[in-house]
Amino acid sequence: MPELPEVETICRGLQQGLPGCRVKRVEVCWAGCLKNLPADQFQSRLEGCTFQEVRRRGKYLLLQLEDGQTLVVHLRMTGGFSLCPAEEPLRLHTHWWAELEDGRRLRFRDPRKFGLIYLLAPGQIESFPPLGKLGPEPLSSSFTVSCLTRLLAGSRRRVKETLLDQSKVAGIGNIYADEALFLAKVRPTRPANSLRPAEVQRLRRGIRLVLENSICSQGRSFSDYCQVNGSQGDYAPLIHDAGSSLCPSCGGAIEKIRLGGRGTYYCPRCQR
Ligand SMILES: [Zn+2]
Repeated sequence: MPELPEVETICRGLQQGLPGCRVKRVEVCWAGCLKNLPADQFQSRLEGCTFQEVRRRGKYLLLQLEDGQTLVVHLRMTGGFSLCPAEEPLRLHTHWWAELEDGRRLRFRDPRKFGLIYLLAPGQIESFPPLGKLGPEPLSSSFTVSCLTRLLAGSRRRVKETLLDQSKVAGIGNIYADEALFLAKVRPTRPANSLRPAEVQRLRRGIRLVLENSICSQGRSFSDYCQVNGSQGDYAPLIHDAGSSLCPSCGGAIEKIRLGGRGTYYCPRCQR
């Protein structure tokens, strides 16, 4: 599932290639991904529009159009965009695409079909419920130690589940929660409100470090995620789904457990 670093990488790719481009024509192959409009309205409202800028909030992509509309996208499990020449063959599971005036195509592809697409009218973004519920951005200056302390102190759930709660912190998913807890030397099953001040500090640093490192590597290298230009990311997780199953810090065996239904990896010697 694309998490903050993958969505940020896609966002940067779109931001490089889309602003100023006008949509000539829209083709919808599978309307099930369009969550607030039927296909014909989606097409007619997007055709003729010019992209202004692309932003990210949590795991959401926000494609702002010059006329005030916003295309809001959640990639969920396997969604992704490509920006490619017209002659590039259409890949299987492409659900809609936009022909740009310069001839390129913006294509949305999603094999598992869980992705969500909303085309919001001008002004609707301010009151769009999913965005209003999101917690702070972990790479923003407002994500301070005291901010994380408050978030964790207010939760009796296990610390990993708290990190996955998008209303607490926006953008962290299963992989980067495991990675950040490993760097913080905190066991994922600990109650969130049991972390000591030094552990909260380490956790904040760990969260920011793994997210920044992964963004620098253009996101994780896994099968269904790719950048806008079609290439994969290079980030290899330290502990999550690690092939060797040995801890990179102590060399001991990595444990895999189920936590809240999610495969969770940790080192029982390093993480307390
Ligand atoms: Zn270890």
